[in-house]
Amino acid sequence: MLTVGLAMLQGARNEHMHAILKAAADLNVEIEIRELRKSSDVAGIDALILPGGESTAMKIASRSEELYSGIWENVRNTNIPVLGTCAGAILLSQNGLINAGIERNAFGRQRESFQSDIEVNLEEISTFQGVFIRAPRFTDGSGNAIAWLGDEVVGILERNVMALTFHPELTDDFRFHLWLLNEALSRTEHDQ
Ligand code: GLN
Repeated sequence: MLTVGLAMLQGARNEHMHAILKAAADLNVEIEIRELRKSSDVAGIDALILPGGESTAMKIASRSEELYSGIWENVRNTNIPVLGTCAGAILLSQNGLINAGIERNAFGRQRESFQSDIEVNLEEISTFQGVFIRAPRFTDGSGNAIAWLGDEVVGILERNVMALTFHPELTDDFRFHLWLLNEALSRTEHDQ
């Protein structure tokens, strides 16, 4: 049984829930989705999802319960795999969990939201449908790139922390969620 923590303060949470459940069914693994609302919810999770949405709203919502400080401490101490999408990627960058700068809303007004095929270099994933919604842009960190929109880096994997500026949870393709569960599985096997 794997416990997958999902930050619940704001953003595309249900979509991630569906995607991770599909990935778990595909792998035939039992999972519990732990809805994270306060820092005391974080202990004991095997994997973490930080959804997209509005990073400023997330930070404001976190203040009363200090959810994010609890999350960052847990990730640093345990090295669990993390999947952060869009606003989730912004939070990972701003809190030093990945070594890359990020610029919010970097694609400008007329390209605020768009879809495009992207190139991926992660296990069996080589292309993916990138859904970009008021997407941020990495300003450095290309050494750890795993996804590209043309020349632009749109995905970074550092150790087991993945930051994507697009939204895999808004497609039917749950391969990034499979990656998260497979990472969590291989870590729990090592621990036994
Ligand atoms: N523009 C949002 C922010 O700055 C991110 C957009 C998204 O998560 N789709 O937080």
